Amino acid sequence: MADSLLSHYRRNKGLLGTQVLYRAQVPSTNTLLLEAGERGLPEGFLALADFQIAGRGRLSRKWVAPAGTCLLMSLLFRPLPPFNRSAAYITMVCGIALADAVREVTGLSVWIKWPNDLIVTRGDNWRKVAGILSEVGMVGRQPDFLVAGIGLNVNVSRNMLPELDPLATSLQAETGRTFSRVVLLDAFLERADVLYAQVRDGWSPHSLWVENLAWLGKAVQVSTPTENLTGIAEGVELDGSLLLRLTDGTRRCFSVGDVSLRI
Ligand code: ADP
Repeated sequence: MADSLLSHYRRNKGLLGTQVLYRAQVPSTNTLLLEAGERGLPEGFLALADFQIAGRGRLSRKWVAPAGTCLLMSLLFRPLPPFNRSAAYITMVCGIALADAVREVTGLSVWIKWPNDLIVTRGDNWRKVAGILSEVGMVGRQPDFLVAGIGLNVNVSRNMLPELDPLATSLQAETGRTFSRVVLLDAFLERADVLYAQVRDGWSPHSLWVENLAWLGKAVQVSTPTENLTGIAEGVELDGSLLLRLTDGTRRCFSVGDVSLRI
């Protein structure tokens, strides 16, 4: 179901999504906004696409989505100082808002897989329904703006999922129903707007984010480019880093950039 209204989407209230750039096809919506951000595009600018030729995950991993079936979008933020803390909060806000929007529209029970994926769990089995990729826009040597990209697998039929990833799922595959991407987008932006206004007023989304995280207190596997570790996911620091208690009792802290989490 390619809801053509996506190409005309625009919100008439709030900060996020009142200015929109839609493209049928882009390299990636993040790339579009990282380039446009350097030209001074305002905060809240939204990029939407029906297809990404070069969708990205972290560390240049690929994000794959069949044309017209998924919500592929990026938002431009201009974080208040201190930049790093605001950027971490914005990524948390996007995760919480996306989880809430999916719950509200579909009734599905979803969780955030640290640091930034949305998953559906059944016992110890899990499947990824969305990913969030935050990237920093630099001006000179200074971080200047943040682009938060979201790929949500909406109307991807079961038989197409293996093309995405062995652990991918979609809202359609989970519920047997199709959904309007516009309705999901509206629900997400509505929630993100409220939370982001609170962040700009000094509120920390950390506790709410923690409530949405999967697997806290459970045995997990953490892989970095250089090592694979098993331990208990004890918690997350205020900046979003993951605290892992190893089997020998030592504690390790992992920042968001280079780490994958599995159960
Ligand atoms: P991780 O799950 O290790 O944290 P990322 O957050 O960087 O990984 O997401 C990128 C990974 O997501 C890719 O390497 C691929 O395995 C998987 N992937 C790619 N496209 C999709 C999709 N549409 N749905 C679910 N998973 C995907």
